Formats: sequence, structure tokens, C-alpha cells
Amino acid sequence: MSYHKLLFSEMKLRTLGRTGWISRLCDGVSRRGKVCFSSCSPKVCVVGSGPAGFYTAQHLIKARKDVEVDIYEQLPVPFGLVRFGVAPDHPEVKNVINTFTQTARHSRCSFYGNVNVGKDVSVEELQQAYHAVVLCFSKFFLYMCVCVCVYVIRGMGVPGEDLAGVYSAKDFVGWYNGLPSCQELSPDLSCETAVILGQGNVALDVARVLLSPIDILKKTDITHPALEALAESQVRRVLIVGRRGPMQVACTIKELREMVNLPDTRPEMVVADFQGVIDALKDLPRPRKRLTQLLLKTALEIPGEMEQERRNKASRTWGFRFFRSPVKVLADPDHNRTAGIRLAVNRLEGSGEGACAMLTEEVEDVSCGLVISSIGYRSVPIDPSIPFDSHKAIVPNTMGRVQQAAGLYCSGWLKTGPTGVIATTMNNSFDTARSLMEDMDSGVLHISSAKPGSQTIRALLEKRGVKPVTFSNWEKIDSVEVKRGEATGKPREKLLTVEEMLQVART
Ligand code: FAD
Ligand code: NAP
Repeated sequence: MSYHKLLFSEMKLRTLGRTGWISRLCDGVSRRGKVCFSSCSPKVCVVGSGPAGFYTAQHLIKARKDVEVDIYEQLPVPFGLVRFGVAPDHPEVKNVINTFTQTARHSRCSFYGNVNVGKDVSVEELQQAYHAVVLCFSKFFLYMCVCVCVYVIRGMGVPGEDLAGVYSAKDFVGWYNGLPSCQELSPDLSCETAVILGQGNVALDVARVLLSPIDILKKTDITHPALEALAESQVRRVLIVGRRGPMQVACTIKELREMVNLPDTRPEMVVADFQGVIDALKDLPRPRKRLTQLLLKTALEIPGEMEQERRNKASRTWGFRFFRSPVKVLADPDHNRTAGIRLAVNRLEGSGEGACAMLTEEVEDVSCGLVISSIGYRSVPIDPSIPFDSHKAIVPNTMGRVQQAAGLYCSGWLKTGPTGVIATTMNNSFDTARSLMEDMDSGVLHISSAKPGSQTIRALLEKRGVKPVTFSNWEKIDSVEVKRGEATGKPREKLLTVEEMLQVART
């Protein structure tokens, strides 16, 4: 093709690309029966199939009629933390899966599960095959540390954290939610008291799962091994420990209310922790004020007759412990197992959200056989070629454009850090999709030259012996899980190993 013809077709692509006209011209039908677009469509690759991946794909597909999006996911199953993070007793939150499924079934979207980007295929290879790559993966590790100040982490790790009976919330949640890599955890729940470090929503999820009556849990999609272990659990008391005070808890009111109303439990708070809180109420912003009011009510108010009766009958207790930082996990006399935790007593410097916890000389030992650290997630990089800010644990970006990496974008927790609910992730993913489309429109992103997209990547994967799982393969897994669940009155019984998932996917 002559230069002028090329230029002309490029101009046509630019002007008509969003009308659907071009895509109709380019349409064909693939082996899988999906509409297959020709080499002239802009090809975007999304890494990770959690909310960020799906919302980015959804926005791109809706806003431009020519874009093709391929989603690569390391596991054979999609949906990220919606499947492996969201608590089993929160089924309504998982309804977003219906929207994600619509996106995945769209003729211009393909899902490739069982592809570990960074190992099976590099980000650089993806960049060569696609016009743009959007990083939406999150690979996490949880850390435990003594933190003196909110802004300065002094010292990482606490002695004794490798004792039996100490777990990260990431692993504990992964265990009860069926994350294959966490199935070996089999936590020992034979103790009476559990201590959870951190007071965010994940901490409350874990506390609720530990204390929920088994009749509630058995109607959820919690895994069978977790259900069995929880049915036998001896845990009767859960303490949720925070380094700061009642006005700095990180959980939200809905989750706190669920704890307050949890059947067969009663709250156990330390009244002295609430000193001065009533006076400070009037100056708090509204959501924080309502949350603090509920905390105050739970801790200080003398309950009515019915509530008192309910509390008297309860066989399990839960409570917040404030102004405490872990300094050491204490071992039993044989030095094998956790027997307790030493907590430093803190004082607060400053006030409000930014108040800083400072260690005092004082410590307190709490007997417990289970310690679960739930002090936030941290992303880790999957590929050395990706710029990564290890201090903030994010990919450095401007509105989702990865800094100093043309054609590379990011969404979700990798973009913002590990905070925010699914709705927040949706908004930040839509923002990234908008940035990407702006770059297509302005010419910053070159979409005029054809890119092979999944064609090349599938060939590469085949050569490397990696067999991707398609979305219709996932739907087979889904239907097996749902069928297995029906037998026991659960929404699904999850498959727990990658091997079993692959076996079902390929039947
Ligand atoms: P993720 O959901 O983690 O998705 C990332 C995806 O990337 C995963 O599928 C992962 O397997 C994949 N991936 C990782 N590495 C690779 C790789 N190398 N190659 C390919 N793919 C890869 N929000 C709510 O609104 N309600 C709730 O009830 C709620 N509960 C939560 C419970 C827990 C325990 C946690 C941790 C979070 C919860 N959230 C909840 C927050 C919500 O889950 C997040 O906002 C959201 O999942 C972030 O989306 P994401 O796509 O950035 O990350
Ligand atoms: P989070 O909300 O950030 O809470 C982390 C907790 O750990 C805070 O109490 C924090 O205290 C504490 N912490 C952090 N570093 C610490 C340290 N070094 N030493 C001692 N304590 C420390 O994190 P998360 O609970 O993991 O939740 C992650 C995100 O997912 C949140 O946005 C959450 O809302 C969301 N989520 C939502 C739901 C839901 O909607 N139901 C459920 C689960 C998760 P400081 O405040 O002092 O830092």
C-alpha cells in the first residue's frame, strides 16, 4: 500500500473508528463463534480479571465500538477478590459478577485464564502484541510490623510471628474463600481467644466468620473444609486490636453494625478507651460521627431488657482493643505454638484521622492461641520491566497512564494502593479507560498500525505449554460448582485446586 493510501486509511480509521462502521467492515467469525475483528481494530490487553480488569474492559468496549479487549488472568477462574476476598456471607456484593459476565461474553472481549503474566508471558511481549496494555493485577503479601507512627514504619516484623497459630488475614480469607494457594493453611482453631491485628473491614470480615453461627455460614459459598473446621472451632472470644483510638477505626458502619447484631455474641469493650470521645463527637464529619456514635452506644450504653437478655445468653464475645501495637508473639512453654501476644500501649499524638500512635514504655500481654494480622494488603510487582513504587506499593501513574512507559496503563488497587471498595475501583478503572481513549483520539497512542493481539500471544503460550482457560471453559467450572452447592443448600461449592479447575474446564 502506498504511503498516501496508508495515510488515507489511517485518517478514515481515526474519524470513523468509533462509529462501528469500521468494525462491521472488519468483522469475521472466530472458531469459538465470537465475532472476530480484523487486524485494524485497536487491541487492548488487560492483565487481571478482578473488578479493575472487568470495569476497564467494560468502559472501553461500551465507549468505542472498534476496540477489542483481551483479559489475561493467572488463575483458571475470573473475578479476583470478588471470588477470593469478599466474605461468604455477603452474597449481594458478588452480584457484580453478573455485569462482569456480560462484559466477558461480549463479542469484542476475550478471557484467557490460567495465564500468569510475568511468568508465562512477559509484559513486554504483551506490549508488542497490543496497542495498549492495562495492568489490573494485584499480587499481595501481608506484613506485620511494629508501627510507632502512622507515617513512619519503624522496624518490620515482630518476634514470634512465625509460630504456629499466627496467620495473615490474606491467607485466612483465602483459605475460607477457596483460593487454591491457601488451602494448605488448615488453621488450628482449638483455642478460646483469637486476636486480630488491625481494625479495617477485612479484620471485621475475619472476626465475623470466626464467630458466626455455623447455620448461617453453611448457607454461604464458604468452602467445605473451612465450614468443617469452623463447626469444630473452639474460638469463643475475638479481640480486634488497633494501634490508634475509637475515632480512627478503619472499618465502616455497615460492617460494625453486623458485628453488633451478630447472633449469639455480645460486645466486650474497655470503657476507659472512650474517654473524651463524646466531647469530640460534634466536630467529626458525618460518616465518622455515625460510626463513632455506634461504637459509643455499643461500648457505653446500658442495653434495654431484650438486648441485655440476648447478651446474657450469648456464648461468644468480641471487642475492640484500642491504643495497642503488637511487639511480640508469645510462645507456649514448648516454643511451638502461640500462647499470647505482647502489646505495647500507645498514646495518641494529634487528633482526628491523622492522629499518630506513639509507643509508651508500658506493655500488656494477652493470652490467645490465634493471631491474625489484618493490617492492609500491599501489591508486589510481577514483572521487572514494570515501573514500581515500592514505598507506596503502586505502579507510578498519572490518571492511569504508567509514568515513563508509553502504551502502558493501570487500574484498580495497583493504581491507587490497596484501599477502596468495588465501587471505588470501578470509578478509578473508568478513569483509566478514559485516559486510554483520550490517548487513542489524540494520537499519543498509535493505533493506526495493525497489531496481532491474542493471535501472537496464544501461539507463544502454546509453544510454552500453557493452555489458557476461556470464559466458556470457566462457565463449565461455574456450573459444576453451582451443581455441587445445590446438593448441600449452598450457592456453590468451589473447586479448591487449580488441577481440578483445569480438569473441569477441559471436559
Ligand atoms: P483484585 O480483585 O485483586 O484483582 C486482581 C486480579 O489480578 C486477580 O484476579 C489476580 O488473580 C490477577 N493477577 C494477579 N497476578 C497476576 C498475574 N501475574 N497475571 C495475571 N493475572 C494476575 N469491596 C466491596 O465493595 N465489598 C466487600 O465486601 C469487599 N470485601 C473485601 C474483602 C477482602 C478480604 C478484600 C481484600 C477486599 C474487599 N473489598 C470489598 C475490596 C475489593 O475487593 C477491591 O476494591 C477490588 O477487588 C480491587 O480490584 P482489583 O481488580 O484492583 O484487584
Ligand atoms: P484498611 O481498611 O486499610 O485497614 C487496615 C487496618 O490496619 C487499620 O486499622 C490500620 O490502622 C491497621 N494498620 C495498618 N498498618 C498497621 C501497622 N503497621 N501496625 C498496626 N496496625 C496497622 O485495610 P483492610 O481492612 O485490609 O481493607 C482494605 C480495603 O478493602 C478497604 O478499603 C476496605 O474498606 C475494603 N474492604 C471492604 C469491605 C466491605 O465493604 N465490606 C470488606 C473488606 C475490605 P491505622 O488506621 O492506624 O493505619
